[in-house]
Amino acid sequence: MHEISALNEAVKLAERVAKENDVEKIKVLTLEVGELTGFLPVFFEKYFSMVVEENPLFSECELKIDSVRGEALCNDCNALYNVMKNEGKCPRCQSRNKTILGGQEFKVKNIGF
Ligand SMILES: [Zn+2]
Repeated sequence: MHEISALNEAVKLAERVAKENDVEKIKVLTLEVGELTGFLPVFFEKYFSMVVEENPLFSECELKIDSVRGEALCNDCNALYNVMKNEGKCPRCQSRNKTILGGQEFKVKNIGF
């Protein structure tokens, strides 16, 4: 599962930030997950408790997932469209020639103490 390694990275980053700030508990960890990453938010929720198990820093931590829509700009007719909904094809001119504007990100958006 790619979600587990991504989650491990996010947890490591949060741990480092917590240490730098002398924080004993992380209350909220918010991840930004683009629709086009192929990551399924449901897996993050499923694996989070496993990844942070026995880590007191996260014993009261709530995981939040902010999904980012996969948006693209058609390079042929300039239409803006949702990549997932339209299966990667411009709904106006059917072109697959596009510039992805969003939806490929995976990052820690917020760490709440
Ligand atoms: Zn188009």
